[in-house]
Amino acid sequence: MKQLFLTFGFLAAALPALAATKVATLHPILADLARQVGGANVEVVEILKPGADIHHFEPAPKDLAEMRGTKLLLASGKGLESFLDKLRDSLGADVKLVEVGAKIPSIPFEEHHHEHAEKEKDHDHEEHDHHHHGSEDPHWWHSAENMKRAARVVADELSAVDPANASAYAAGAKVASKRFGELKSWAQKEIAKIGKKDRLLVTAHGAFGYFCKEYGFEPISLLGIGRSDDASSKHVAETIEEIREHGIKAVFPEDQANPKVLAEIARSTGVKIGEPLIADGTAKVAHTFETMLAHNVRSIVAALAPAAAK
Ligand SMILES: [Zn+2]
Repeated sequence: MKQLFLTFGFLAAALPALAATKVATLHPILADLARQVGGANVEVVEILKPGADIHHFEPAPKDLAEMRGTKLLLASGKGLESFLDKLRDSLGADVKLVEVGAKIPSIPFEEHHHEHAEKEKDHDHEEHDHHHHGSEDPHWWHSAENMKRAARVVADELSAVDPANASAYAAGAKVASKRFGELKSWAQKEIAKIGKKDRLLVTAHGAFGYFCKEYGFEPISLLGIGRSDDASSKHVAETIEEIREHGIKAVFPEDQANPKVLAEIARSTGVKIGEPLIADGTAKVAHTFETMLAHNVRSIVAALAPAAAK
């Protein structure tokens, strides 16, 4: 009899894991965030896995079947997943679809247009003729402050579908936010090694707007936010001018994009090609906010800081 009670005791202890809330994710960083906030109370079903292309992903029938078994579906939002309306219709009311980015302040995608002729005519407006405002930038996960907001969104949504564990989710979000704050402080200290006038970040596609805003860089990208459009020869020429004018030391390819124009720019300016940056947060080697940020900051500091500061 005693043996029997012990067996039941063991089963009861194992129950919370069996009853874990199933959460599907459309970005590896959201999967990691859901695990950080939800701990043992959630089971994460990664629909878009590390290595996948976030700009060209479309859920397959097997993904739909997997999503149907979950309570909550976390998407990046900000227009990244163009299929969400269709998905919401086909999933119905049983799965709550949440665009985590919806509660994060947007920055517009800033395409770099350096108009030298105009600039020479009017020095006072130097700051204003650089940018052409376009569509919304979906790459919000490059900012620690945004990650803190996302942690709160995830905790609130988990609490809505699983109110019994609300306090655990709130505590999970607090721990995650504290960690994001520590990572931001570390990144700021590292980036301080790069002089303010040297903080021009030339990358393959327009993914680093939020990073640049948080750490005081000016972004220049050769491709747009969706990675597919080509750089015009005018834009390449402007970028070359900018690199020469500021004495910038490196340009950066990405784990999923290394357009030929970067090599062309390196050839004509003599700049280095830096380590490929992780732009979309899905690299197999680094697909959490922490590992992505660490990789990017180290690569940027290694290429742009003066040798003595590294
Ligand atoms: Zn991207």
